[in-house]
Amino acid sequence: MKVPVLPSLSVPPQSFVEDLAAWLALPVREVRNTTYLPELTRYYGLLHPLPGDLRPSLTFRVCLACLAKERFLKRTLALRYVLYCPWHQVTLLSTCQCGTPLRIFDPATMPFTCGACGRDWTDLPRIAPTPERIAVTRQLLSCYEYFFFCGKPTLMEKAFLAVVNAWQEEIIREREHPPRRSPRMHSYPRLPSNHVPSLCLLVLDLVKYHLYHDPKVIFWGKEDWEQEGE
Ligand SMILES: [Zn+2]
Ligand SMILES: [Zn+2]
Repeated sequence: MKVPVLPSLSVPPQSFVEDLAAWLALPVREVRNTTYLPELTRYYGLLHPLPGDLRPSLTFRVCLACLAKERFLKRTLALRYVLYCPWHQVTLLSTCQCGTPLRIFDPATMPFTCGACGRDWTDLPRIAPTPERIAVTRQLLSCYEYFFFCGKPTLMEKAFLAVVNAWQEEIIREREHPPRRSPRMHSYPRLPSNHVPSLCLLVLDLVKYHLYHDPKVIFWGKEDWEQEGE
């Protein structure tokens, strides 16, 4: 079986899911449920969602506590801008202490160890997230949860239109009152193959423009997560 590249881990082709299920002797549905295929299929109304429908790229990150406990790699940690583990309050790591990026599939090293210095990932220092990061991530996770639970094409269209309106208002505002800050790149949703914005960028903008706000979760300012973008 061909080892998939990183982005297709959370949104793999159906044929890969079927091969893996046969290889592990598990029901196809069980393997499929470890990915975001069921949610994205419903959300986009498409039979075969692509990795770009979830997010444009994927940086591999791990929670050291999830890993130490059960060698667990939760699919939630693949969501963009989720930079700490909400179960363990630990900042996710993408590089070893020696600076080498963590690689999930490295044929030359033992699983969950650094390919350069040999350190076990669970021995890496755990870093507590800032209260700002916790507040922002909770808003994002609440929004993701909402879409994963009841996402469908009409809802996506409504959300996207709300974001487009917010962009227009922002552009008009900035024309009238140019901001003093240095110009920065905007993360407007890129359109993947099916011409709809990737879910991660849509969620990000919904939270950023206060279009999605879970009152149960404290909202911080947009400044915090703007500086911690990927
Ligand atoms: Zn964790
Ligand atoms: Zn290392």
